[in-house]
Amino acid sequence: MILQQVRVRFAPSPTGSLHIGGARTALFNWLFARKHDGVFVLRLEDTDLLRSSEESSAGIIDGLQWLGLNWDEGPETGGSYGPYRQSERLPVYRKYLEQLVADGQAYYCFCSNEELQQEKEAARNGKRDYKYSGRCRELTSEEVQQRLSQGLKPVIRIKAPDNGTCVVHDLIRGDVEFNYVLMDDFIIAKSDGWPTYNFAVVVDDASMDITHVIRAEEHLSNTPKQLLIYESLGLTPPLFAHVSMILAPDRSKLSKRHGATSVQEFREQGYLPEALVNYLALLGWSSGDDRDFWSLDELVAEFDLENISRSPAVYDIEKLTWMNGNYLGKADSERLLSLVSNDNQIKRWSALYPRDYLLQALRLVGSRVKTLNEIPAAIEYFCEDIAAYDGKGVAKHFRKADAVDILTALIELVDNCTQFEAELIETRMRLQADIMRLKAAELIHPARLALSGRTNTPGLFEIMELLGRERCRQRLQNAVAYIRGL
Ligand code: GLU
Repeated sequence: MILQQVRVRFAPSPTGSLHIGGARTALFNWLFARKHDGVFVLRLEDTDLLRSSEESSAGIIDGLQWLGLNWDEGPETGGSYGPYRQSERLPVYRKYLEQLVADGQAYYCFCSNEELQQEKEAARNGKRDYKYSGRCRELTSEEVQQRLSQGLKPVIRIKAPDNGTCVVHDLIRGDVEFNYVLMDDFIIAKSDGWPTYNFAVVVDDASMDITHVIRAEEHLSNTPKQLLIYESLGLTPPLFAHVSMILAPDRSKLSKRHGATSVQEFREQGYLPEALVNYLALLGWSSGDDRDFWSLDELVAEFDLENISRSPAVYDIEKLTWMNGNYLGKADSERLLSLVSNDNQIKRWSALYPRDYLLQALRLVGSRVKTLNEIPAAIEYFCEDIAAYDGKGVAKHFRKADAVDILTALIELVDNCTQFEAELIETRMRLQADIMRLKAAELIHPARLALSGRTNTPGLFEIMELLGRERCRQRLQNAVAYIRGL
């Protein structure tokens, strides 16, 4: 038996940014293709000339590349089934449209807007669901020719069955039945000659040999129309898999008011692509265990359509942010530095400090930040003098009667510590605490506040080593002066 090669596609309409729902559809297609050694096609559905834009196409391409979802065929890559932008495929659609009209499966419709409006009103008055009457079905070829020669611009409609049912065999949802009674002779080409979505998508999927259509649930209701077009053209339809929606935490439709929804926004807010991919994979797919962290390779190995959920996935920014923090903690500091290198503060500090100093600061804070955008603030005290002390910290650690004694002892310790290294600093500090009959924490907390201005930082001794003896002494002295002024 010759197994057909899997060919799937992601077919966004370039009318906006790459939404996380779209990115997840792309990811599922990509994973499915990689899993089955298949081909992942990117096709831009830009037939809506008014709403499509070059800027949006570029944004979608950029977003997919950033996520690491490379396509085997499509814009920029090319391939033997091109062109991959619908706006460049008009001759292909014309050929199939003419075939359907010639076969009598589709027909020109010259009904004006007013005429259609009247039909709609009659349906409303009769409390019937509106369906186009099919009036132009009856036009003879002479009547059609006559109207065409008058310069009238018709739409093309497909002949839909009056009754019966259509069953969509969906790989995720099972068999879904639709009644043809509800379907009218719908438009497959507009009066400007451009195909409608349902027609173009069928022609493209068929002529690009797409084997599996994995797409958003919102297109399930279009599938009966598309199946009718396949049938009319005598073409074999692909297999369908409709992926459930992504809902907001309150289970409403995910929208702008729920914060970032596009890949570009997440990127700008300091999320790593591998974290977003990992998170999106788990939105509606599960391997069966509750493992959270997956690399793309691991996902490819485990992914299959059977494990995609039929119920909507609920989006949870906190989980994504937590995952992102985890990936940041594991990320190489060279990479982190290059990812934040466009930030103005980082640029300034890069000019002031050796690269290695910044890398070490990043190594210390990497596991404590949740997004890249938190990095400048997280390393600020390594690069700037302390402008202010945390208010609660001051009340707790600086207003104690022995605060000045403690910090003065620490200044001495800093001066006397033979090697200014974390391990030795720690030993000395614990010894000093014993001498002063205090707990180590009673030295560590005021020292942390004096050196960083904060109450919550990575390990104090590592911070001290990186700041260096001079800066530690200076900051401890500043803190003593500050406390005396309280
Ligand atoms: N262009 C359609 C959209 O962006 C997708 C069509 C499809 O996947 O069949 O929603």
